[in-house]
Amino acid sequence: MDISILLRQHVGGPCKPIVSEGEEVKRGQLIAVPEGLGANIHSSVSGKVKKIVEDRILIQPDGEQSPDYIKIDEHDNLLESIKAAGITGAGGAGFPTHIKLDADLKDGCVIANCVECETALHHNIRLLEEDPQLVIKGIQYAMEVTKAPRAYIAIKEKNTQAIDALEKHLLDNIGIKKLKDIYPMGEERAIIHAIFDQWLEPTQLPLEADCVVLNTETLANITMAIEDRKPVIDKDITIIGQLNGGKEPHILFQVPIGTPIKELIERCGGIHGEYGEIIIGGPYTGKAEDLDTAVVTKMSGGAIVTIPFPKYEGPVGLLACACAADEARLRDVAGKMGAQVTGVVECKNIVDVRGAKKCKTPGDCPGQAEKVIELKRSGAERIIISNCSDCSNTVMCCAPKMGIPVYHHTDHVFRTLDYTLTRRLPMD
Ligand code: SF4
Repeated sequence: MDISILLRQHVGGPCKPIVSEGEEVKRGQLIAVPEGLGANIHSSVSGKVKKIVEDRILIQPDGEQSPDYIKIDEHDNLLESIKAAGITGAGGAGFPTHIKLDADLKDGCVIANCVECETALHHNIRLLEEDPQLVIKGIQYAMEVTKAPRAYIAIKEKNTQAIDALEKHLLDNIGIKKLKDIYPMGEERAIIHAIFDQWLEPTQLPLEADCVVLNTETLANITMAIEDRKPVIDKDITIIGQLNGGKEPHILFQVPIGTPIKELIERCGGIHGEYGEIIIGGPYTGKAEDLDTAVVTKMSGGAIVTIPFPKYEGPVGLLACACAADEARLRDVAGKMGAQVTGVVECKNIVDVRGAKKCKTPGDCPGQAEKVIELKRSGAERIIISNCSDCSNTVMCCAPKMGIPVYHHTDHVFRTLDYTLTRRLPMD
């Protein structure tokens, strides 16, 4: 099957191809460069460039593939190696790492985001369990680049095996911050709040709190770029859901970028029976994609095959969150259920920042009763929500009393996986 390398795998515009159709390329070869904000893109396979279209480069792989690759040039400056390797945030945001790390943090810190906030994804925690030093070295390189004297690893307290593995290799200037298993504990400002007990404004970046936040796999990529001169050509990914052989996660390390998701699902047993949708990413923030066109990118967290949606053809209201499904995704879910949308509201914690929806205090509920009443007044007999754990808990304290059943947009995913639905928070 052809490899399909997207030209936009990061924040910013698409990269410009620097190869031509018919050209032979080697694994690791630079094939596209950014024209503004962005990051280099390299071929993940050796083969022939079959076609270049607006958004991607299609490569026909050679029959035999070697794990070897063309190394990035040697640089004295670590930041230049990170830039040359085309590293971007691997947790889904895709911000170019060389830009994030171009900072002076002599009074600040590096934060490793090892939270793996999306419950169905498992590859980051498995990496920490199996190779904690790959990530710890990435933290040390990030500290060296930014001159940060201190670092924290933010991780859910439930991941005891990963914490044990990390603790065996930790240095004095790297601390572990254990976090609760609630959504969205891995949001950058939620992590900073958990560590420093201080909320950044939605307009503020972590840099304004004198820190940078880097995802687990991004840190591993930094280590590989500096020590092995490896460009970002492979991706760790979780494949999970309604698959032949069961619902346990399949964790695939270092899959060539551009590999069709369909091929990975087949490798993991194939789809079992009828399915609802293929979600690329996690249950909260992922989007449904077409099985025939979805491919692995530098930002792909996972692929989830869900059970079919429940059918409900009545009137529904939608309540959107800034840190999970937006209105478009909620409408997608409502449409797949067959429901008629009577009204759409947003959590009142949402503010508009330069055209993007941001939450004032991610994971800290501002109250939801008036939003539920608004949806009921619009004619909704049920509501579909995408709220965080705390706000879902609040919705569950009022909506049932108003006779409004609640469906969370992650329900069909969590039912697929036999996980606890996002409803009331357990009291402990
Ligand atoms: S407070 Fe509102 S916007 Fe913020 S995470 Fe919770 S539901 Fe989303």
